[in-house]
Amino acid sequence: MKIIAIGRNYAEHAKEMNSPILEEPVIFMKPDSAVILKDNPFYYPDFSKNIHYEVEIVVKISQTGKNISKQFAYKYYEEIGIGIDFTARDIQNKCKDKGLPWELAKGFDGSAPIGKFQSKNNFENLRNINFHLDINGKTVQKGNTKNMLHSIDDIIAYSSSYFTMKKGDLIFTGTPVGVGPVKIGDILTAYIEGKLLLKVEIK
Ligand code: MG
Repeated sequence: MKIIAIGRNYAEHAKEMNSPILEEPVIFMKPDSAVILKDNPFYYPDFSKNIHYEVEIVVKISQTGKNISKQFAYKYYEEIGIGIDFTARDIQNKCKDKGLPWELAKGFDGSAPIGKFQSKNNFENLRNINFHLDINGKTVQKGNTKNMLHSIDDIIAYSSSYFTMKKGDLIFTGTPVGVGPVKIGDILTAYIEGKLLLKVEIK
């Protein structure tokens, strides 16, 4: 199983990072060892002093496909969920400065907590899904998929021209504005359309 993740997919978030918006999606990957399931805790790693939360809609691939056209991309996923793209911002900034890849900043153990998935049929319009993240009960990020620069179907079409999509692969679709640091003791809760689907304690 692999995780494909998209950077800079919401204009307001790209702006807060002082990152230019590019025409093509910014793609990176996380290994399967990044996943945290079943509301297990996240252990703050020794190598970073600035772990940031990034709440994101997650898409689960349901069948193998390569060179999938945008028109047929909807056939390759049945479920939508929510996850957190934990990012070691201090390491990422160093990588960006030096033009190095982001894996150490984005793919470390526990960097991808994922909540319960929902059938995509629960949603009337996948381009109008509200989601949000609370920390200790206070909302810190709010997004709507209508603000994605690259839609779920666009991302699948683009990524599948490079990587064969396999059943169980996950796509992190980018974070909206409002990212920030976590600290030990924080409780993160993530919601789609007001429904609690993920809880992570920082330990
Ligand atoms: Mg992200």
